[in-house]
Amino acid sequence: MSITTDTTNYLSNLLIPSAYKFATQKHGSFIEGTKHSINETSIDIIDPSTGRVITQVSETDEETVDRAVLSAKRAFDESWGHMAASQREASLHRLADLIEENAAELAQYDALEGGKPVSQVETVDLPLAIEQFRYYAGWPTKLRGDTVPAASASTAHVFTHKKPRGVVAAITPWNFPLCQAAIKIAPALAAGNTVVLKPSELTSLSSLRLAELAMEAGLPAGTLNVVTGTGANTGHHLVSHPAVNMISFTGSEKVGRHIAGQAGQDLKPVALELGGKNPNIILPDADIAKAAQYAATTAYFYSGQVCFSGSRLMVDRSVLDEVLEAIQTHAEDLVLGHGLDRSTTMGPLSSDTHRNKVEGYLEEVTINGGEIAFGGLRPEKGNSDGFFLQPTAIVGPPDITPAVEEEIFGPVLIVQPFDDIEEVITRANKGKYGLSAGLWTNDVRNAHRISQRLEAGTVWVNTYSDWHATAPFGGFKNSGMGGKDNGAEGIEKFLDTQTIWMSLE
Ligand code: NAD
Repeated sequence: MSITTDTTNYLSNLLIPSAYKFATQKHGSFIEGTKHSINETSIDIIDPSTGRVITQVSETDEETVDRAVLSAKRAFDESWGHMAASQREASLHRLADLIEENAAELAQYDALEGGKPVSQVETVDLPLAIEQFRYYAGWPTKLRGDTVPAASASTAHVFTHKKPRGVVAAITPWNFPLCQAAIKIAPALAAGNTVVLKPSELTSLSSLRLAELAMEAGLPAGTLNVVTGTGANTGHHLVSHPAVNMISFTGSEKVGRHIAGQAGQDLKPVALELGGKNPNIILPDADIAKAAQYAATTAYFYSGQVCFSGSRLMVDRSVLDEVLEAIQTHAEDLVLGHGLDRSTTMGPLSSDTHRNKVEGYLEEVTINGGEIAFGGLRPEKGNSDGFFLQPTAIVGPPDITPAVEEEIFGPVLIVQPFDDIEEVITRANKGKYGLSAGLWTNDVRNAHRISQRLEAGTVWVNTYSDWHATAPFGGFKNSGMGGKDNGAEGIEKFLDTQTIWMSLE
């Protein structure tokens, strides 16, 4: 597809001048502090709210990936990896400040490429990204080893160092481009590593701009490089590069398995944050109005394209009708529209292919006994060229059906009634995923007992979706491995321990 004058005109009306200039440029990779020109092989970046091509980015080839990795290795060996901790802290604080100063522009890129409502990107994604850099900026001067009582004080001095791993390959999904980049880059850099980031081929702009801001903040050239391109090509070259010392991946279970296989072959540490099919359980003694409000918000936020979306609602049968009615009211109030339109409260799906996949689940679940309570269709009026789908609820499908077991990643809430607490715990735990869960009850004993029995890395009780840089986040079972994001766990995975035995005899 080509970029038409019509497209550039509509973008000039939607974007602030700085974002318009950047978004409509063709982009190559960002290596050694310099933006490269676009390759001959390029990828169209499509606005999912209109289906139009916005710009193009490089499909970065093997030779260029090699340059990016070697640039990161040089920066690790010659500058960033050996810099005083206080200097690293200062640079990361400066980068956080620059993200904040450029927040309006950065938010527009994620809203444009991801179709996410810009007002929500400004109030959710940007603060979370800035918080990551501020929080991990505090860590370099607090990282330290230990003295170990392995021998008597007169015979040997035994102590440990915390050492960065070297070059980290960071691979991110399309649903939280800037945020996911920050979640990886901030702790990896704070630990003293250098990074080659490969953003999703659907959403590259905020990552490329972040790399420019990192140079402006004074990070040495090569400390943060960005290679654009598809997973099968650019991602593959990056993951299998011999000079990459660690892989940090967030994305689907399928690709996570593949990357873990490659990392296993190469004996490289790998951290995976994968998908989820998250049970959100409402007991009859809960504050039903609040539970229903949160259930609807988490189901349809970013069109359900969130790994921890409460996509499987399990409701005590006695309150099912009340909950469903409240969720439908919330869904009917949602304003579907362009991500950059401030009145929009729900955007499109990320691509036409993805919408077709979501619709496939709708077809399958109705054959398997689920009933569409509301939604299920493409909106009739307006938005016809964007990849929109109505907020939808499906009631009553049996547990063993793909729509209940798998991540749909769309505005499709699966609603399942239950009759008994033991029954709901067993059913909620049966799935292959274990990313997060919600529990709604005013009985403090049930709150404690049930939350601990749910097989999920994060359990929200009488709330949902809370997130903070200090609070570890990551999945059990097929939702992840190799360490958590956030908090001490978020930086520990980017460090290795060296033990030194120093004989005193
Ligand atoms: P995806 O797995 O298709 O792609 C993720 C990234 O991997 C992209 O950058 C892609 O280009 C790259 N990739 C694909 N194949 C590759 C390969 N062979 N080698 C190297 N890289 C490769 O996921 P997606 O569709 O972009 O994102 C949605 C998924 O991400 C969902 O499953 C969602 O649950 C998950 N997610 C998880 C979390 C979490 O914290 N657990 C957060 C956000 C998203």
